[in-house]
Amino acid sequence: MKSAMCVIGTGYVGLCTGVGFAEKGFKVICVGRTKEKIERINKGDPIIYEPVLEDSLKKVIKNGLFQATIDLKYAIENSNISFICVGTPSKHDGSIDLGDIRKAAEDIGKFMKTKKDYHIVVVKSTVVPETTDKIVIPSLEKTSGKKTGRDFGVCMNPEFLREGMALKDFLEPDRIVIGEYNKKSGDILENIYKIFNAPILRTNLKVAETIKYANNAFLATKISFANEIGNICKKLGIDTYDVFRGVGMDHRISPHFFNAGAGWGGSCFPKDVSALIAKSKELGYEPKLLEEVRELNKRQKVRIVEQLESKLGSLKDKKIALLGLSFKPNTDDIREASSIAIIEALKRKGAAIIAYDPQAIENMKQLFPDLIYTKTAQEALKGVDASVIITEWEEFKQLNENDFGLMKNRLIFEGRKVLDPNQIKDFEGICW
Ligand code: NAD
Repeated sequence: MKSAMCVIGTGYVGLCTGVGFAEKGFKVICVGRTKEKIERINKGDPIIYEPVLEDSLKKVIKNGLFQATIDLKYAIENSNISFICVGTPSKHDGSIDLGDIRKAAEDIGKFMKTKKDYHIVVVKSTVVPETTDKIVIPSLEKTSGKKTGRDFGVCMNPEFLREGMALKDFLEPDRIVIGEYNKKSGDILENIYKIFNAPILRTNLKVAETIKYANNAFLATKISFANEIGNICKKLGIDTYDVFRGVGMDHRISPHFFNAGAGWGGSCFPKDVSALIAKSKELGYEPKLLEEVRELNKRQKVRIVEQLESKLGSLKDKKIALLGLSFKPNTDDIREASSIAIIEALKRKGAAIIAYDPQAIENMKQLFPDLIYTKTAQEALKGVDASVIITEWEEFKQLNENDFGLMKNRLIFEGRKVLDPNQIKDFEGICW
């Protein structure tokens, strides 16, 4: 018989984990905190925008394999494995906030107390090295009165999905990392994942936690490196993407993830790089490379504002169209999006901002209710002094000369590689 699962957290990772396992035929109970959100999920509304997730959610609800609840006790009693997928945001000093992790572990322990079956607790959230050993396990033992390994199992199983491709990535991962407290826990989790047709790496808890941070820190570094070279290319008057086409042909390097542009954002890279810096300092090591990767990214986000100024002079009362607000395409997530830094800089300089995004406007309105938001890119372009593409949404690739002809002054900047020079004349890229 297949394992029944409890998934704690109904955000990007929790919902995709729950729906993904249900797609694979497991019975899943997802646990959230707010009744209203859970009711919407049970009606097939994933709340977040994520391609294919809604259809999949509706399908697994119909098949009777997925349900959401706020009742953790019910979920623990009716499952034999729990995945902790709660948020691990940054504190003000950049270190990780483990409050939700600790609370989830304490609550799980409370309800494991009376369970007879061997329950496995899996940490899927991104947590700094030593968290599972020093916070999750003591919290579980304190409230359950049970002993790890003997009475229940623990694994650390980092998630590598990308927003915008989240469910697909969950179902078709490059690899599955299982950090295990003991062999029994790892065997049970490996048995669940063996139908995923992906290489499985088994290791200890601390290594699994660190793999996730090293992975994200490397990707962030790779983009910052591409931006550094891109800024040099801009001075040289060449296209950095032409350069990286050549660099990527070196098999030691790989052509992927050299996306020079207006910097990296999102819910993971910024907070994970900062958490790793903070953890490393706590351990007595100054991670200078990572600190510069983060600083370079801060500067990169607003570089395009400097470029606008160099063309327009003062930005006071200039109308600027911003195309794309989400931190990347195919999501409505604006956490740490480059658009936020650009909006703040433009506002400081007194520019009038007209913004458009296919999905993220409602989220952005919460942060900046005072911008002008439009329903189409064309509407945003009408009568402006300059336009900036910040997110590489597919629909921006279709913009044509007529669309840009709506601008009062034809000054087009792109912070991502979107426009085709064979179709659009006279535009400038941030690093090309
Ligand atoms: P999120 O903020 O979208 O969702 C977290 C959810 O957990 C929220 O809905 C919150 O209400 C819920 N929650 C917190 N405590 C709870 C509790 N005690 N019981 C029930 N629900 C609770 O976060 P996310 O993007 O899904 O990320 C979750 C974790 O996965 C983080 O550690 C993140 O770093 C990691 N991660 C995220 C991604 C990504 O692309 N978003 C990818 C890989 C890993």
